[in-house]
Amino acid sequence: MYKNTQLFIDGAWTPALSGRTIDVLDPATEETIGTVAHAGVEDLDRALAAAEKGFRTWRKTSAFERSKVMRKAADLLRSRVDEVARLMTLEQGKPLAEARMETLGAADTIDWFAEEARRTYGWVIPARAEGVYQLGLKEPVGPVAAFTPWNFPINQIVRKLAAALATGCSIIVKAPEETPASPAELIRAFADAGVPEGVVGLVYGVPAEISEYLIPHPIIRKISFTGSTPVGKHLAALAGRHMKRATMELGGHAPAIVFDDADLDAAANVLTAAKFRNAGQVCVAPTRFLVQEAVYEPFLERVVAAAKARKVGPGIDPESTMGAMANARRVQAMEGMVADAVQRGATVETGGRRIGNKGFFFEPTVLTNVSREAHAMNEEPFGPMALVSTFAGFDEAIEEANRLPFGLAAYAYTRSTKTATALAANVESGMLTINHNGLAIPEVPFGGMKDSGYGSEGGREAVEAYLNTKFVSQAGL
Ligand code: NAD
Repeated sequence: MYKNTQLFIDGAWTPALSGRTIDVLDPATEETIGTVAHAGVEDLDRALAAAEKGFRTWRKTSAFERSKVMRKAADLLRSRVDEVARLMTLEQGKPLAEARMETLGAADTIDWFAEEARRTYGWVIPARAEGVYQLGLKEPVGPVAAFTPWNFPINQIVRKLAAALATGCSIIVKAPEETPASPAELIRAFADAGVPEGVVGLVYGVPAEISEYLIPHPIIRKISFTGSTPVGKHLAALAGRHMKRATMELGGHAPAIVFDDADLDAAANVLTAAKFRNAGQVCVAPTRFLVQEAVYEPFLERVVAAAKARKVGPGIDPESTMGAMANARRVQAMEGMVADAVQRGATVETGGRRIGNKGFFFEPTVLTNVSREAHAMNEEPFGPMALVSTFAGFDEAIEEANRLPFGLAAYAYTRSTKTATALAANVESGMLTINHNGLAIPEVPFGGMKDSGYGSEGGREAVEAYLNTKFVSQAGL
């Protein structure tokens, strides 16, 4: 049913030179389903040398050719969606339908970057003297090291991988050890599509050991990390010390502001779908539901009903609409946050407990009367937990929305154009979506501000992140 995962170095699938492996669990059963190769420094050295060689080849391949290879990889991934989604569900826990969507979404992301990077234009700057040509040129930044987490095993990689390859960079991906097989299928699609040896590397191991080795290494020119804010700050500091370009896509704690003129059915449907997708393990998931007083009761009723309607079960069962959480740490974190909130006076409207004692299942949870001091109101729950509270007017909503150091995503529902415009001007977040969920498609910016990180992994900025600007001034001979 499940595949063991190897490293991919210099165009070949290979075990770690030491032969070491790490076990992989099915979060729905807690049983060991396979292993992943555990890279040591000797494997990383091989991957680095290959990435240096791959960069020399790939940067000289035209954007037109690179785009063709990438589109072939996207098509291969699409054609393998059933198999890839099954692996992802087994190792990560999410429902098959979500795993399929993630895989197909990744193929769309590859296509988009493949096309966008064909339009990486330089420019000509008018000179002060006759016969002088002043050129702004764009060049690939060089070999990239990417570090990605387990919540979206493929999609967290593909934004980095596709942007790097489209611009002519090579890349070493340090993919998640807990969910290794589906990312390997993403890499396999590129290998089968004909990406030259060394252009893409895939390693697993101890995240801290790998990042401490790759980031300072002179071959690596840029890093991109997705994960928690504390780890992001540590890696950004390391990158800074070694003068490496960095993109940081970190945690969030998204406010969802529902005004009293909102379409409550639409708001509740869309926001709860976003909340409980992937069992809430989503950096842009709405977490603080801020509801204007007059509509608090009817909105809360809808949210609670939506939570209760989730069918929690193994992702591999097509009936399940919410799967297991990805690892034991998340269940413990959820239990701790609920207990802390309740101890500080919160009401559990629904959920709040682990389901059974086998598999990392947790009830879709709605809490009210949650103190601002509660951990859940300050740290990213990263689980199926909605915290619903009231506000009187616009200023109070904005104050709460902006209270935390995070600034990744924000959601709002209102029928007033004036309110919508004021939200856009005042909410401190990298992304704001009003009256629908319009986040995370490849062609739009994706990134945060404040402690949620810097740089964008969507839209044209995401391409720019993998390019250097070179200025050339040439006088007539
Ligand atoms: P964690 O904070 O230790 O790890 C988060 C991710 O960073 C993992 O993928 C891990 O492999 C990686 N990581 C950790 N230390 C690293 C290092 N020194 N070098 C390179 N990579 C490193 O713990 P966790 O339990 O996996 O996740 C905890 C929290 O992380 C979650 O509650 C959530 O807030 C956040 N998280 C965010 C995202 C996201 O999409 N932004 C994804 C996963 C986790």
